[in-house]
Amino acid sequence: FIWYYKLQWNSLVNLTFHLFNSYGLIELFQLDMVKLRRFLVMIQEDYRSLNPYHNAVHAADVTQAMYCYLQEPKLAETMTSCDLLLGLLAAATHDLDHPGVNQPFLIKTNHYLAALYKNSSVLENHHWKSAVGLLRESALLSHLPTEDRLNMEERLGSLILATDISRQNNYLSEFRTHLDKRDLCLTNGRHRHFILQIALKCADICNPCRPWKLSKLWSEKVTEEFFHQGDIERKHHLEVTPLCDRQSNSVANIQIGFMTYVVEPLFVEWSRFSDTRLSQTMMGHLSLNKQGWKEGRDKQEANTSRASEEQRTSAAKDSNSKELPQGSKRS
Ligand SMILES: [Zn+2]
Repeated sequence: FIWYYKLQWNSLVNLTFHLFNSYGLIELFQLDMVKLRRFLVMIQEDYRSLNPYHNAVHAADVTQAMYCYLQEPKLAETMTSCDLLLGLLAAATHDLDHPGVNQPFLIKTNHYLAALYKNSSVLENHHWKSAVGLLRESALLSHLPTEDRLNMEERLGSLILATDISRQNNYLSEFRTHLDKRDLCLTNGRHRHFILQIALKCADICNPCRPWKLSKLWSEKVTEEFFHQGDIERKHHLEVTPLCDRQSNSVANIQIGFMTYVVEPLFVEWSRFSDTRLSQTMMGHLSLNKQGWKEGRDKQEANTSRASEEQRTSAAKDSNSKELPQGSKRS
């Protein structure tokens, strides 16, 4: 188990290095292998391993999903080496130094990050700026012309900022409009960048589209992190975020809502865009997993109502047995 655990915790470095290598990005961008490995180790270490969900394993999971989407025919045929490099970099760094609490929490506790980024995409701005900091510190791209480097940093930011879930509807409606008009042209750099943003968004929230066992594990991890935030809120007499309240919410409820209102709408459009076996498989898992959570919730509700019914019956029996001797005295 310890071996497996350690392997998992090094997965971000190994996976990203392997993908850079197999796409030929190291040669193409003349990257120094030592600098690259050092950069990836720094990224991995900047993820907080105590977070149940937003840790380096989540980043590796998103990078793996991103790779799968980059392999889809429409993307594989059109993405340039620069797109591939940025897509993988954005996936690996998109939650860098995540504090394990959400933006509203940072705002209501007057966290310095909220002030720094003026309460807007606070976390995503922090992930991006942290990534840029490590890119510069490692000097991974220092041999490239300054203009190219700055341009890459900007594009990296635009990709990471797209993962802000509160902006999901803007991206979704733009995506839908493009698909309705059939005007996406992936020889156009702006359109390719937009599809990279959508692919990263899909990769970030694709857990419910994975097989049940894996999907369930991620769902439990993310809920653990939410409930931990709720516990801190309760302890400090702050208003407890409904999503984070273990006393009134459950993994099943959270997942059903997340799948219905966030994941499904995005993946329906993604499979319209890229109607492949992978997309169909993901939609199949999504529907089965949602069913799984619904059945689990129904079962739990039935058990709870049976338990309270039994409690009521035994309470009634108790009071009857107490009344009997009194009644017999009276008679
Ligand atoms: Zn993420």
